[in-house]
Amino acid sequence: MMVDQNQVCPVCGSSHVRIEQEDRLIFEPYGGQKAIKLQVCTCMDCGADGDFLNQNDTSILAAQNYLKANAVSQIVNYLNDTGYTSAAMERAFGLPSRTIAKWKRESDSCPSASAVALLRIVRTFPWLISVADAKFDHAIAQRIFITEAIKDLLKYRLTNSEQVSSGVITNSEGTLIYLDYLQDHQESKLGGNCNAQEIECGTWGNGRGML
Ligand SMILES: [Zn+2]
Repeated sequence: MMVDQNQVCPVCGSSHVRIEQEDRLIFEPYGGQKAIKLQVCTCMDCGADGDFLNQNDTSILAAQNYLKANAVSQIVNYLNDTGYTSAAMERAFGLPSRTIAKWKRESDSCPSASAVALLRIVRTFPWLISVADAKFDHAIAQRIFITEAIKDLLKYRLTNSEQVSSGVITNSEGTLIYLDYLQDHQESKLGGNCNAQEIECGTWGNGRGML
């Protein structure tokens, strides 16, 4: 705690103002977090309190911009590392060439809000790049979405080079969710060496397992 003799209470004009620091953690999706200190002023004479110095909003904004810049960089690096080149993403989303490099460069000062919004979404669901690549064709988009959901459900990681299809079969005995994939160089985890393998499935409703 400190008393700043130069600080004047905006309510009563007293210079008897106490300034305390308050820790605040700023969080940004995919950008990490940053601890900042906010200043809380209290007038010792009239009891008014708040941000008399009008510095807190600036501190919060600076931290948010710093974390957003970090997020832009981290997300683009992650997508590049997982096989999505910036050029491929720009093609898929119809962005001018080198837009993503520009985002990374410009994010040092103030990242574009729309760039951050798009990158957050794509980082969460990278398969949206494939949806965009298919010109947002509804049937293809649904197929990609369901396939990715089933891959997640089955917790099975497939590389980009593998051809994957999926589906759901329902009859009176239950429901079968399946994921077919092609492997060129290795055998299926569940045995056999056919190209197309059903890797896992389950049933709901009648308690019987199906394989
Ligand atoms: Zn006062």
